[in-house]
Amino acid sequence: MVSRVTDDYLAMVMAGCVAVCEPAFWAGFDRSSPQGFHDYFCQLTDYEPRRAARYHLPHFSWLCINPKEADDLILAREVLALIPSFLTRPNVLGIGEIGLNRNTRNELAILEDHVRLAADHNQLILVHTPHLEDKWKGTRLILDLLRADPRINPARVIIDHVEEHTLRMVLDAGFWAGITLYPDSKCTPARAVDMFETAGTGRLWLNSACDWGQSDPLAVPKAALEMRRRGYPDPVIRNLILEAPRQFLTQSPNFKLNI
Ligand SMILES: [Zn+2]
Repeated sequence: MVSRVTDDYLAMVMAGCVAVCEPAFWAGFDRSSPQGFHDYFCQLTDYEPRRAARYHLPHFSWLCINPKEADDLILAREVLALIPSFLTRPNVLGIGEIGLNRNTRNELAILEDHVRLAADHNQLILVHTPHLEDKWKGTRLILDLLRADPRINPARVIIDHVEEHTLRMVLDAGFWAGITLYPDSKCTPARAVDMFETAGTGRLWLNSACDWGQSDPLAVPKAALEMRRRGYPDPVIRNLILEAPRQFLTQSPNFKLNI
């Protein structure tokens, strides 16, 4: 939401959205110092929840240095050292979106540091998987790394941006899977519903990617509409877009919904 206008909050409330969960991500440019991340974490945990609250929309956030900026090991480790002091903020859900971008050795090292940080502080984990041709290999590397730490419970980790060829390996390993809706480069509502029809209910949910590119804050309500068009009854739709994420997120004591 830090990349979106306030009108998007209004549109989401009007479309029936009941909460926003915002991962720490790329700022549209590479930040040059830990101070930039300190200010960003303040924005995610202080200013942004207040902006959303004006529309009665609860706002939650995840914290990390995202993989796109994690190739500078010195900067990344300085940013990681800032995170524990923000974990006590009331809207923080856990560590994310961590993961891999180009599957480099440095990205893997920082991913490992994030996983250790999450385990040390008993935090939920949200994982970004790479795009296009790197996705299958990157997802494989991420699952292997997570399984190598015996403190990590897969039921407390969501692997995001799954596609047809990675969904099964994520679910079979006991993790949650996120299907990300985005006008280009990720998933359309119709394709997401096709994937849901293949995978069935369970540890699966939909989310929309809203960032600096052309993106759609109403992508989840549009996927719900697509399900209605296909004849799904309301409880099935509600389960995919509300109850499943609620089941996962309430594993964080900070996640509370008044509905
Ligand atoms: Zn991502």
